[in-house]
Amino acid sequence: KPKVKTDLEIAQNAKMAHIRDIAAKLGVDEDDLELYGKYKAKLPLNLIDQEKVDKNNLILVTALTPTPAGEGKTTVSIGLTEGLNKIGKKAMVVLREPSLGPVFGIKGGAAGGGYSQVVPMEDINLHFTGDFSAIEKANNLLAALIDNNIQSKTRNLGLDPRTILWKRVIDMNDRSLRHIILGIGGTANGIPREGGFNITAASEIMAILCMAKDLEDLKVKLGNIFVGFTYDRKPIYARDLNAHGAMAILLKDAIKPNLVQTLEGNPAIIHGGPFANIAQGTNTIIATKMGLSLSEYVVTEAGFGADLGAEKFLNIKCGYSGLKPRALVLVATIRALRHHGGAKPEEYNDPSLERVEKGFANLEKHIENSKKYGITPVVAINNFISDTQEEINLVKEKCAAMGVKAIVSEGWGRGGEGTQDLAKTVVEVIGSGVNGFKPLYDWNLSVKEKIDIIAKEIYGANGVEYSKKAELGLKRIANLGLEHLPICVAKTQKSFSDNERLIGRPTNFHITVREFEIAAGAGFIIPIVGVMMRMPGLPSVPASEGMDIDGYGKITGLS
Ligand code: ADP
Ligand code: MG
Repeated sequence: KPKVKTDLEIAQNAKMAHIRDIAAKLGVDEDDLELYGKYKAKLPLNLIDQEKVDKNNLILVTALTPTPAGEGKTTVSIGLTEGLNKIGKKAMVVLREPSLGPVFGIKGGAAGGGYSQVVPMEDINLHFTGDFSAIEKANNLLAALIDNNIQSKTRNLGLDPRTILWKRVIDMNDRSLRHIILGIGGTANGIPREGGFNITAASEIMAILCMAKDLEDLKVKLGNIFVGFTYDRKPIYARDLNAHGAMAILLKDAIKPNLVQTLEGNPAIIHGGPFANIAQGTNTIIATKMGLSLSEYVVTEAGFGADLGAEKFLNIKCGYSGLKPRALVLVATIRALRHHGGAKPEEYNDPSLERVEKGFANLEKHIENSKKYGITPVVAINNFISDTQEEINLVKEKCAAMGVKAIVSEGWGRGGEGTQDLAKTVVEVIGSGVNGFKPLYDWNLSVKEKIDIIAKEIYGANGVEYSKKAELGLKRIANLGLEHLPICVAKTQKSFSDNERLIGRPTNFHITVREFEIAAGAGFIIPIVGVMMRMPGLPSVPASEGMDIDGYGKITGLS
C-alpha cells in the first residue's frame, strides 16, 4: 500500500501565493487589505454590495447524520470550490474558523482534508487572526462586569446572583470548568455564587458576531444580551451595565472576515465558528455576504448533519440575513451509510451492500427534509479508498429513485480534478431554477409550536416533552417578550433523535426539552434537548498527545 500523505504534510508542501494576489482575483486592491503577514488578510466591511449578494449564487453544503470523525463537509466544500473554478466559474468557499477544543480533542482540525484544504493550515487551526480570543475577552468582560456589579456598594443594580445565566468562556475542551463556585475567599473577593464555563464556540458573543450586519448592529445586539433578574424581578441586560460599547471595541477586528486561499490558489473566507450541535453552526452573515459580493458562486458549510447546521442555517441565518441558497449539497459517505446500517467503528471500512442499503434510510430522511425547504439536493458521495463501485451504484440508484442526483466527489484524493462532475451538476441545478427556498416555520408561532415543527418534520419525532425546568423557562421567555425569536436546538449530532444511540432513521420517539437558554442578543431561543453540554470534555487519549513542534518550528501531528 502506498503511504497516504497526512493533511498536514500536504498543506506544508503547498506553494502559497501572496494574499494580495488572491485578493486581486476578487478585484480587491492591496490597499483595501489589512494584512496579517503574507498569507492572511482581513477584508473591510465596505466591500459588501447588496446588489451582488442578491445576484450571485449561494451553495449550502450539509451532510447526513455523521460518524464521530466527520463525513467531509469541509473537504467537499473546498473541493467543490476548486472544481467550480476548474470549469471556469468564479467561485470561493466561505467557512467557519476551527475551535481549539476539537483540534486537541477528538475531531481534529477543520481546514479540509487531503487535496481539498485551505492554507495556511496550521495558522487556521490554531490562533489564526485572533478572532476567538477577542470573542472570549468580550464574553469575559461582561462576566467580570456582572460580578463587579454584585460586589458594588454604589452602583449595585440588585441582581439576584441565582438568576444570572451568563457564563465565562474559554476555547478548550475542559469539563472540570462546567460548574464552578465564584467569589470565595471573604468580603474583598466577590460575592460567592455558582457559575461555569462554556466553550467559546458556544458563547452568545460568537452567535452575535455571526448574526451581526455591521458594527452598529453588533453593538445593539451586545446590549440586548440578557443577564438575569434583580431581586424584584426586573430583567437586566448588558446595556444596563454599560457593557456593550467596550465589548464592541474588543471585537472591532474580529468582525472583519479573514481572507486565505485553497491549495489550488482560489480565494477562501474563514470567519466565525459556532458549533452546530450546541450553537447555530454557520459562519458569519458578514462573511457569507462578503463572499457573494466578490464571487459568482459561494460555497458554504453548515455544521454536523442537516438536522442541525442546515436547519439552523435555513431557519435562523436566512431569516436574519435574507440569504437564499440556490443549491444544497448533501454530503454522504459509504462509511456513514454502513454505520447507519449497523456497522461498528472497526467495521466502517468493510464493504457491505446490505448495510449500505439499510443505512440509506438516514440519507433518505435528509433528502426528504431538504425538499421541505423547496430545495432538491445534490448528493455528493465523498469518496473513500474503502468504497466499492457496487455500494456507490446502489446509492446512486436509490437517490435517482427519489429524483436526486448522486455524484462521486474525489476532491480529497484529487482536488479540483476530482470534483468537476459535482461542480457541473450544481451549476446545472442552479441554472435550471428549480429550487425556490422557503423556510420551514413562521417565527410568529409560539415557541412550543416552532419546536414541534422542527421535531416532527425534521427529526421525525412523534412529539416533544418538557421538563418542569423547561416549562419555567417558557414562562420566562414569555415574560421577556421573546416568543417571536427563532429556535436554535442544542441536540446530539449523532442521531435525528435526542438519544445518540438511535442511528439510521429512528421512528416512534419523543424528544425532551430539559431546559432553555435565552440568546436575546443573538436573537434566538435555545432549547436544550437530551443531555447536551455546552462545554465539551476531552477523550481519554486526546489528539494533542500526538502533536509536536521541533527546534525549527515545524509542527507534526496536527490533523
Ligand atoms: P466535516 O466538515 O463534515 O466535519 P471534514 O471535511 O472536516 O468533515 O473531514 C473530516 C476528516 O475526514 C478530515 O480529517 C479529513 O481529512 C478526512 N476526510 C475527508 N474526506 C475524506 C476522504 N474522502 N477520504 C479520507 N479522509 C477524508
Ligand atoms: Mg467541517
